[in-house]
Amino acid sequence: MTTELMKQADQVIAKTYKRFPVVFLKGKNSTLFDTAGRSYTDFVAGIAVCNLGHAHQRICQSLTNQANTLWHVSNLYYTVPQIELATWLVNHSFAERVFFCNSGAEANEAAIKLARRYFKERNETNRFRIVTMEKSFHGRTMATLSATGQDKIKTGFDPVLEGFDFVPFNNAEALRSKISPSTCAVLIEPIQGEGGVRCPDADYLRAVRKICDETGTLLILDEIQTGMGRTGKLFAYEHFGIEPDIMTLAKALANGLPIGAMLAKDHIAAAFGPGSHASTFGGTPIVTSVALEVCKMLVEDNIIQHTHNVGAYFKEKLFGLKNRHAVVADVRGIGLLLGMKLTIDGASLVTRCMQKGFLINCIQDNILRFVPPLIIQEEEIDRLIKCLDEILE
Ligand SMILES: *Cc1c(COP(=O)(O)O)cnc(C)c1O
Repeated sequence: MTTELMKQADQVIAKTYKRFPVVFLKGKNSTLFDTAGRSYTDFVAGIAVCNLGHAHQRICQSLTNQANTLWHVSNLYYTVPQIELATWLVNHSFAERVFFCNSGAEANEAAIKLARRYFKERNETNRFRIVTMEKSFHGRTMATLSATGQDKIKTGFDPVLEGFDFVPFNNAEALRSKISPSTCAVLIEPIQGEGGVRCPDADYLRAVRKICDETGTLLILDEIQTGMGRTGKLFAYEHFGIEPDIMTLAKALANGLPIGAMLAKDHIAAAFGPGSHASTFGGTPIVTSVALEVCKMLVEDNIIQHTHNVGAYFKEKLFGLKNRHAVVADVRGIGLLLGMKLTIDGASLVTRCMQKGFLINCIQDNILRFVPPLIIQEEEIDRLIKCLDEILE
């Protein structure tokens, strides 16, 4: 059955993904079950999406309640869940206004458009360039791939959108010298996710904030991967003693339903008036009611504190692997956004972990990324560490 399904998939689905030979049927908490009756402990969580794991009862309940009530009416009208989610996000962040869309790329598109329009409204019409980072990842639409600092994402899609300048991550002086009178914004991930779980030095983001303030440049934080508790704070910027002007969210916001959000200070968000930007599906009742429940749970169930604790435990165990195995070159990350750099190719390790019932992810060829559901338990981490220990042996 499984082989037949995969053969069928290869005939009808676009070949944009190299998939592992497994068909998943269902999940519960941090465990997934496939069509062959095997189970896997999930350290991928749909790429940092399913923060509350799979089929969480409270989330399922909020989904079915809303599914039986109201799905969609468009943004020509108000709906209760959208208002409540926006209020929650405003109450728990630096932001004063929220624009809803459907994905990370769309949230970054909105941020890029808002930054440009903000300066147009101030009659600084030549201020449209955006500085972003080498090895960054901001999405796959034309604007967001243009903003992304990785050539492989752009191959075959020339000409990319004009107006993006690139500097090395974690180098404040390089950023300072790249900002010109035509720069409108700096777009940056607080921790580079796809780029290899690369963390900044403790004072780097404060320096970035200062440079933006001194030059009147907007600071856009892409917290699509780092937000919603992933790093042991609700938003990663809280670790670094700064606030952005604009922030983008997506991935974990609705635990797997498609959603994106762009948050901004009011005087900046004001550049988006009626008709300036829109999304048919943005902020539908069904998606925002689930997202609201996810947000409430993060706080009410102390999940962020749990992430902090269990993340520290996990990282310590990874350092243990580093001490025992010479092929482990580096361990990095915060909370449950963790990376382990190898001196060898990571792909075969991922396959062998999968054979032993663990899903992990490999990025940039040799960096293992661990982004489990935030509800992961120490016992599950222990079992993965034991598995990695045996494989590395
Ligand atoms: C995943 C990701 C995106 C793109 O999100 P999509 O929903 O796939 O469009 C953008 N930025 C960061 C930092 C991401 O991790």
